[in-house]
Amino acid sequence: MNQDSADQHTISAAVLRSRGGPLTIESLLMEGPRGNEVLVRLVASGICHTDIDMMDGWDDTMGPIVLGHEGAGVVEAVGTKVEKFRSGDPVVVSYAFCGQCGQCRKGRPFDCLHFFELNFGFRRLDGSNALRSSDVRGHFFGQSSFASHALVASRNLVPVSRALPLALLAPLGCGLQTGAGTILHSLAVAPGESVGIFGSGSVGLAAVMAARIAGASQIIAIDRQPARLALARELGATCVLDSRQDDLAAQLAAGLDCLVDTTGDLELGRVAASVLKPRGRAAFVAGGAMPKPMAGRRHLSVIQGDAIPRLFIPELIRLFQSGWFPFDRLVQFYDFRQINQAIADVRRGETIKAVLRIG
Ligand SMILES: [Zn+2]
Ligand SMILES: [Zn+2]
Repeated sequence: MNQDSADQHTISAAVLRSRGGPLTIESLLMEGPRGNEVLVRLVASGICHTDIDMMDGWDDTMGPIVLGHEGAGVVEAVGTKVEKFRSGDPVVVSYAFCGQCGQCRKGRPFDCLHFFELNFGFRRLDGSNALRSSDVRGHFFGQSSFASHALVASRNLVPVSRALPLALLAPLGCGLQTGAGTILHSLAVAPGESVGIFGSGSVGLAAVMAARIAGASQIIAIDRQPARLALARELGATCVLDSRQDDLAAQLAAGLDCLVDTTGDLELGRVAASVLKPRGRAAFVAGGAMPKPMAGRRHLSVIQGDAIPRLFIPELIRLFQSGWFPFDRLVQFYDFRQINQAIADVRRGETIKAVLRIG
Protein backbone atom coordinates (compact mmCIF):
# COMPACT_ATOMS: atom_id res chain seq x y z
CA MET A 1 0.00 0.00 0.00
CA ASN A 2 1.27 3.44 -0.85
CA GLN A 3 0.97 6.07 1.81
CA ASP A 4 -0.07 9.16 -0.11
CA SER A 5 -0.44 11.41 2.90
CA ALA A 6 -0.66 11.05 6.66
CA ASP A 7 -4.11 9.52 6.52
CA GLN A 8 -4.80 8.50 2.96
CA HIS A 9 -3.70 5.34 1.18
CA THR A 10 -4.01 3.71 -2.21
CA ILE A 11 -5.66 0.31 -2.06
CA SER A 12 -6.86 -2.09 -4.73
CA ALA A 13 -10.44 -3.33 -4.61
CA ALA A 14 -12.89 -5.31 -6.76
CA VAL A 15 -15.61 -2.82 -7.68
CA LEU A 16 -19.19 -3.61 -8.74
CA ARG A 17 -20.20 -0.98 -11.30
CA SER A 18 -23.23 -2.65 -12.83
CA ARG A 19 -25.80 -5.19 -11.72
CA GLY A 20 -24.58 -8.77 -12.01
CA GLY A 21 -20.96 -7.76 -12.51
CA PRO A 22 -18.29 -8.46 -13.57
CA LEU A 23 -16.19 -6.91 -10.82
CA THR A 24 -13.24 -4.76 -11.89
CA ILE A 25 -10.08 -4.47 -9.81
CA GLU A 26 -9.32 -0.77 -9.38
CA SER A 27 -7.04 1.49 -7.36
CA LEU A 28 -8.93 3.58 -4.79
CA LEU A 29 -7.99 6.05 -2.09
CA MET A 30 -8.92 5.12 1.46
CA GLU A 31 -8.49 7.15 4.62
CA GLY A 32 -6.58 5.85 7.65
CA PRO A 33 -8.21 4.41 10.80
CA ARG A 34 -10.36 6.67 12.99
CA GLY A 35 -10.42 6.31 16.81
CA ASN A 36 -11.56 2.73 17.31
CA GLU A 37 -10.92 1.47 13.78
CA VAL A 38 -8.24 -0.91 12.59
CA LEU A 39 -6.66 -0.98 9.15
CA VAL A 40 -6.42 -4.63 8.10
CA ARG A 41 -4.22 -5.82 5.24
CA LEU A 42 -6.34 -8.62 3.84
CA VAL A 43 -4.72 -11.98 3.22
CA ALA A 44 -7.93 -13.67 2.07
CA SER A 45 -11.67 -13.27 1.67
CA GLY A 46 -14.36 -15.89 1.30
CA ILE A 47 -17.12 -15.40 -1.25
CA CYS A 48 -20.57 -15.80 0.32
CA HIS A 49 -23.92 -16.12 -1.43
CA THR A 50 -24.92 -12.79 0.08
CA ASP A 51 -22.18 -11.14 -2.03
CA ILE A 52 -23.62 -12.71 -5.17
CA ASP A 53 -27.21 -11.83 -4.18
CA MET A 54 -26.08 -8.22 -3.71
CA MET A 55 -24.42 -8.23 -7.15
CA ASP A 56 -27.53 -9.61 -8.81
CA GLY A 57 -29.96 -7.33 -7.01
CA TRP A 58 -27.90 -4.13 -7.06
CA ASP A 59 -29.59 -0.96 -8.29
CA ASP A 60 -26.94 0.75 -10.48
CA THR A 61 -28.31 4.19 -9.65
CA MET A 62 -27.03 3.64 -6.10
CA GLY A 63 -23.46 3.90 -7.44
CA PRO A 64 -20.49 1.52 -7.42
CA ILE A 65 -19.68 -0.56 -4.32
CA VAL A 66 -17.06 -2.94 -2.91
CA LEU A 67 -18.49 -6.23 -1.61
CA GLY A 68 -16.89 -9.03 0.42
CA HIS A 69 -17.57 -9.86 4.06
CA GLU A 70 -15.47 -12.87 5.03
CA GLY A 71 -12.09 -11.24 5.48
CA ALA A 72 -8.95 -12.49 7.19
CA GLY A 73 -5.74 -10.53 7.41
CA VAL A 74 -3.09 -8.77 9.41
CA VAL A 75 -3.41 -5.54 11.37
CA GLU A 76 -1.47 -2.79 9.63
CA ALA A 77 -2.43 0.30 11.66
CA VAL A 78 -4.77 1.14 14.53
CA GLY A 79 -6.76 4.22 15.53
CA THR A 80 -5.86 6.19 18.64
CA LYS A 81 -8.52 4.51 20.81
CA VAL A 82 -7.61 0.92 19.91
CA GLU A 83 -5.88 -0.87 22.80
CA LYS A 84 -6.24 -4.59 22.11
CA PHE A 85 -4.69 -4.83 18.66
CA ARG A 86 -1.32 -3.86 17.30
CA SER A 87 0.41 -3.96 13.96
CA GLY A 88 1.13 -7.52 12.82
CA ASP A 89 -1.75 -9.22 14.69
CA PRO A 90 -3.59 -11.85 12.59
CA VAL A 91 -7.38 -11.40 12.63
CA VAL A 92 -10.61 -12.79 11.20
CA VAL A 93 -13.18 -10.13 10.31
CA SER A 94 -16.83 -10.86 11.10
CA TYR A 95 -20.13 -8.99 10.79
CA ALA A 96 -20.58 -5.46 12.13
CA PHE A 97 -22.50 -4.54 15.28
CA CYS A 98 -22.62 -1.26 17.19
CA GLY A 99 -21.61 -2.52 20.65
CA GLN A 100 -23.81 0.07 22.35
CA CYS A 101 -27.50 -0.62 21.70
CA GLY A 102 -29.68 -2.61 24.11
CA GLN A 103 -29.23 -5.85 22.14
CA CYS A 104 -25.45 -5.50 21.95
CA ARG A 105 -25.33 -4.74 25.69
CA LYS A 106 -27.33 -7.89 26.36
CA GLY A 107 -24.68 -9.91 24.53
CA ARG A 108 -26.75 -10.35 21.37
CA PRO A 109 -24.72 -8.49 18.71
CA PHE A 110 -26.38 -10.55 15.93
CA ASP A 111 -29.63 -8.77 16.93
CA CYS A 112 -27.95 -5.32 16.97
CA LEU A 113 -30.55 -2.61 16.38
CA HIS A 114 -28.21 -1.10 13.78
CA PHE A 115 -27.44 -4.41 12.06
CA PHE A 116 -28.94 -3.45 8.72
CA GLU A 117 -27.35 0.01 8.49
CA LEU A 118 -23.94 -1.26 9.62
CA ASN A 119 -23.82 -4.29 7.35
CA PHE A 120 -25.79 -3.15 4.29
CA GLY A 121 -25.59 0.65 4.51
CA PHE A 122 -22.23 1.04 2.66
CA ARG A 123 -21.19 3.75 5.13
CA ARG A 124 -20.33 4.25 8.77
CA LEU A 125 -23.19 4.95 11.18
CA ASP A 126 -22.32 8.66 11.05
CA GLY A 127 -22.85 8.57 7.28
CA SER A 128 -19.17 8.92 6.32
CA ASN A 129 -17.29 6.72 3.89
CA ALA A 130 -13.63 5.76 4.13
CA LEU A 131 -13.21 5.59 0.34
CA ARG A 132 -12.27 9.06 -0.77
CA SER A 133 -11.22 9.22 -4.36
CA SER A 134 -14.43 8.51 -6.18
CA ASP A 135 -18.08 7.63 -5.87
CA VAL A 136 -17.24 4.05 -4.85
CA ARG A 137 -18.59 3.04 -1.44
CA GLY A 138 -17.28 0.43 1.00
CA HIS A 139 -18.11 -0.67 4.57
CA PHE A 140 -20.10 -3.71 3.39
CA PHE A 141 -20.59 -5.74 6.59
CA GLY A 142 -18.27 -3.17 8.13
CA GLN A 143 -15.38 -4.42 5.97
CA SER A 144 -15.74 -4.70 2.11
CA SER A 145 -13.12 -7.43 2.01
CA PHE A 146 -12.81 -7.86 -1.78
CA ALA A 147 -9.84 -5.53 -1.46
CA SER A 148 -6.22 -5.31 -0.42
CA HIS A 149 -7.20 -3.45 2.77
CA ALA A 150 -10.26 -2.90 4.95
CA LEU A 151 -11.07 -0.42 7.69
CA VAL A 152 -12.87 -2.29 10.46
CA ALA A 153 -14.22 -1.31 13.88
CA SER A 154 -12.01 -3.16 16.35
CA ARG A 155 -15.02 -4.85 18.01
CA ASN A 156 -15.71 -6.72 14.75
CA LEU A 157 -12.29 -8.38 14.70
CA VAL A 158 -11.47 -11.81 16.10
CA PRO A 159 -7.81 -12.28 17.07
CA VAL A 160 -6.38 -15.65 16.04
CA SER A 161 -3.13 -17.51 16.61
CA ARG A 162 -0.15 -16.88 14.34
CA ALA A 163 0.29 -20.65 14.08
CA LEU A 164 -2.95 -21.07 12.10
CA PRO A 165 -3.36 -20.99 8.29
CA LEU A 166 -4.89 -17.50 8.16
CA ALA A 167 -6.32 -17.63 4.61
CA LEU A 168 -8.27 -20.78 5.41
CA LEU A 169 -9.98 -19.07 8.36
CA ALA A 170 -11.62 -16.31 6.26
CA PRO A 171 -14.99 -18.04 5.67
CA LEU A 172 -15.49 -18.60 9.41
CA GLY A 173 -16.58 -14.95 9.62
CA CYS A 174 -19.98 -15.49 7.96
CA GLY A 175 -21.08 -18.64 6.14
CA LEU A 176 -19.54 -21.32 8.34
CA GLN A 177 -20.39 -19.49 11.55
CA THR A 178 -23.99 -19.18 10.33
CA GLY A 179 -24.40 -22.88 9.51
CA ALA A 180 -22.78 -24.18 12.68
CA GLY A 181 -24.33 -21.54 14.94
CA THR A 182 -27.82 -22.27 13.65
CA ILE A 183 -27.50 -25.89 14.82
CA LEU A 184 -25.62 -25.27 18.07
CA HIS A 185 -27.25 -22.00 19.21
CA SER A 186 -30.46 -21.10 17.39
CA LEU A 187 -31.94 -24.62 17.27
CA ALA A 188 -29.83 -25.98 20.15
CA VAL A 189 -30.08 -29.46 18.62
CA ALA A 190 -30.01 -32.07 21.40
CA PRO A 191 -28.38 -35.52 21.28
CA GLY A 192 -30.70 -38.05 19.66
CA GLU A 193 -32.74 -35.54 17.67
CA SER A 194 -33.35 -35.81 13.93
CA VAL A 195 -32.27 -32.90 11.72
CA GLY A 196 -33.07 -32.13 8.09
CA ILE A 197 -30.71 -29.74 6.32
CA PHE A 198 -32.02 -28.25 3.07
CA GLY A 199 -29.19 -27.14 0.78
CA SER A 200 -25.63 -28.50 0.84
CA GLY A 201 -23.70 -25.33 0.14
CA SER A 202 -21.19 -24.03 2.67
CA VAL A 203 -23.87 -23.01 5.21
CA GLY A 204 -25.70 -26.34 4.88
CA LEU A 205 -22.53 -28.43 5.12
CA ALA A 206 -21.39 -26.46 8.16
CA ALA A 207 -24.79 -27.34 9.65
CA VAL A 208 -24.22 -31.03 8.82
CA MET A 209 -20.86 -31.01 10.64
CA ALA A 210 -22.40 -29.18 13.61
CA ALA A 211 -25.34 -31.62 13.79
CA ARG A 212 -22.80 -34.42 14.14
CA ILE A 213 -21.05 -32.46 16.91
CA ALA A 214 -24.43 -31.97 18.63
CA GLY A 215 -25.04 -35.73 18.61
CA ALA A 216 -28.05 -35.73 16.29
CA SER A 217 -29.15 -39.31 15.62
CA GLN A 218 -30.36 -38.64 12.09
CA ILE A 219 -28.79 -36.01 9.83
CA ILE A 220 -30.58 -35.78 6.51
CA ALA A 221 -29.01 -33.62 3.78
CA ILE A 222 -31.23 -32.50 0.92
CA ASP A 223 -29.75 -30.95 -2.27
CA ARG A 224 -29.93 -31.20 -6.07
CA GLN A 225 -26.27 -31.90 -6.74
CA PRO A 226 -25.00 -35.46 -6.25
CA ALA A 227 -21.40 -34.33 -5.62
CA ARG A 228 -22.51 -32.11 -2.75
CA LEU A 229 -24.65 -34.88 -1.28
CA ALA A 230 -21.68 -37.26 -1.44
CA LEU A 231 -19.63 -34.71 0.51
CA ALA A 232 -22.50 -34.24 2.99
CA ARG A 233 -22.35 -37.98 3.67
CA GLU A 234 -18.61 -37.84 4.29
CA LEU A 235 -19.09 -34.94 6.69
CA GLY A 236 -21.72 -36.67 8.81
CA ALA A 237 -25.06 -36.91 6.98
CA THR A 238 -26.70 -40.26 7.78
CA CYS A 239 -29.04 -40.00 4.80
CA VAL A 240 -29.07 -37.87 1.63
CA LEU A 241 -32.04 -37.00 -0.59
CA ASP A 242 -32.42 -35.33 -3.98
CA SER A 243 -34.46 -32.16 -3.47
CA ARG A 244 -36.00 -32.44 -6.95
CA GLN A 245 -37.84 -35.71 -6.37
CA ASP A 246 -41.60 -35.47 -6.26
CA ASP A 247 -42.09 -37.58 -3.17
CA LEU A 248 -39.64 -35.69 -0.96
CA ALA A 249 -42.30 -35.17 1.73
CA ALA A 250 -43.08 -38.90 1.68
CA GLN A 251 -39.38 -39.70 2.07
CA LEU A 252 -39.37 -37.52 5.18
CA ALA A 253 -42.69 -38.83 6.50
CA ALA A 254 -41.10 -40.11 9.71
CA GLY A 255 -40.83 -36.45 10.69
CA LEU A 256 -38.02 -34.15 11.82
CA ASP A 257 -37.30 -32.66 15.23
CA CYS A 258 -35.36 -29.81 13.63
CA LEU A 259 -34.64 -28.43 10.22
CA VAL A 260 -32.46 -25.80 8.64
CA ASP A 261 -33.35 -24.23 5.32
CA THR A 262 -30.39 -22.60 3.59
CA THR A 263 -31.97 -22.45 0.13
CA GLY A 264 -34.48 -19.60 0.53
CA ASP A 265 -36.71 -21.61 -1.84
CA LEU A 266 -40.20 -21.06 -0.42
CA GLU A 267 -41.67 -24.14 -2.13
CA LEU A 268 -38.97 -26.36 -0.64
CA GLY A 269 -39.43 -24.54 2.69
CA ARG A 270 -43.11 -25.51 2.66
CA VAL A 271 -42.24 -29.16 2.10
CA ALA A 272 -39.72 -28.91 4.94
CA ALA A 273 -42.23 -27.28 7.30
CA SER A 274 -44.83 -29.95 6.51
CA VAL A 275 -42.64 -32.73 7.91
CA LEU A 276 -41.72 -31.02 11.19
CA LYS A 277 -42.85 -33.01 14.23
CA PRO A 278 -45.03 -31.43 16.94
CA ARG A 279 -42.80 -29.06 18.98
CA GLY A 280 -40.28 -29.17 16.12
CA ARG A 281 -38.06 -26.17 15.35
CA ALA A 282 -37.19 -24.84 11.92
CA ALA A 283 -34.48 -22.29 11.16
CA PHE A 284 -34.51 -20.23 7.97
CA VAL A 285 -31.14 -18.64 7.25
CA ALA A 286 -31.43 -17.37 3.66
CA GLY A 287 -33.24 -14.20 4.68
CA GLY A 288 -36.22 -14.62 2.33
CA ALA A 289 -39.89 -15.32 3.00
CA MET A 290 -40.67 -18.11 5.49
CA PRO A 291 -43.52 -20.60 5.18
CA LYS A 292 -46.25 -20.44 7.84
CA PRO A 293 -45.61 -22.79 10.76
CA MET A 294 -48.09 -25.56 11.53
CA ALA A 295 -49.64 -25.38 14.99
CA GLY A 296 -47.19 -26.30 17.72
CA ARG A 297 -44.04 -25.80 15.61
CA ARG A 298 -41.57 -22.91 15.82
CA HIS A 299 -40.06 -21.12 12.86
CA LEU A 300 -36.99 -18.96 13.45
CA SER A 301 -35.44 -16.43 11.11
CA VAL A 302 -31.75 -16.71 11.95
CA ILE A 303 -28.99 -14.14 11.47
CA GLN A 304 -25.34 -15.25 11.68
CA GLY A 305 -26.31 -18.38 13.61
CA ASP A 306 -26.87 -16.30 16.77
CA ALA A 307 -23.09 -16.36 17.07
CA ILE A 308 -20.84 -13.98 18.99
CA PRO A 309 -17.80 -14.10 16.69
CA ARG A 310 -15.14 -13.57 19.36
CA LEU A 311 -16.45 -16.58 21.28
CA PHE A 312 -17.67 -18.84 18.50
CA ILE A 313 -14.91 -18.53 15.88
CA PRO A 314 -12.21 -19.70 18.34
CA GLU A 315 -14.54 -22.60 19.24
CA LEU A 316 -14.90 -23.53 15.56
CA ILE A 317 -11.12 -23.39 15.17
CA ARG A 318 -10.72 -25.80 18.12
CA LEU A 319 -13.31 -28.13 16.55
CA PHE A 320 -11.41 -27.93 13.24
CA GLN A 321 -8.15 -28.82 14.97
CA SER A 322 -9.73 -31.81 16.70
CA GLY A 323 -11.15 -33.11 13.42
CA TRP A 324 -14.84 -32.44 14.20
CA PHE A 325 -15.25 -29.48 11.87
CA PRO A 326 -13.17 -30.22 8.74
CA PHE A 327 -14.37 -27.15 6.84
CA ASP A 328 -11.21 -27.18 4.73
CA ARG A 329 -12.98 -29.88 2.69
CA LEU A 330 -15.35 -27.18 1.35
CA VAL A 331 -12.70 -24.64 0.38
CA GLN A 332 -11.25 -23.93 -3.03
CA PHE A 333 -8.63 -21.16 -3.24
CA TYR A 334 -8.44 -18.61 -6.06
CA ASP A 335 -6.10 -15.74 -6.75
CA PHE A 336 -7.75 -12.35 -6.11
CA ARG A 337 -7.47 -11.56 -9.84
CA GLN A 338 -9.60 -14.64 -10.56
CA ILE A 339 -12.52 -13.22 -8.58
CA ASN A 340 -14.98 -13.30 -11.48
CA GLN A 341 -14.05 -16.91 -12.26
CA ALA A 342 -14.51 -17.80 -8.58
CA ILE A 343 -17.95 -16.18 -8.54
CA ALA A 344 -18.93 -18.05 -11.72
CA ASP A 345 -17.83 -21.36 -10.17
CA VAL A 346 -19.86 -20.63 -7.00
CA ARG A 347 -22.92 -19.71 -9.08
CA ARG A 348 -22.71 -23.03 -10.92
CA GLY A 349 -22.34 -24.87 -7.62
CA GLU A 350 -19.02 -26.26 -8.80
CA THR A 351 -17.17 -24.63 -5.92
CA ILE A 352 -18.77 -24.79 -2.48
CA LYS A 353 -16.67 -22.18 -0.70
CA ALA A 354 -14.40 -20.00 -2.79
CA VAL A 355 -11.64 -18.23 -0.88
CA LEU A 356 -9.64 -15.50 -2.61
CA ARG A 357 -5.98 -15.24 -1.77
CA ILE A 358 -5.18 -11.53 -1.58
CA GLY A 359 -1.75 -9.95 -1.34
ZN1 LIG B 1 -25.93 -2.77 18.57
ZN1 LIG C 1 -22.28 -14.09 4.23
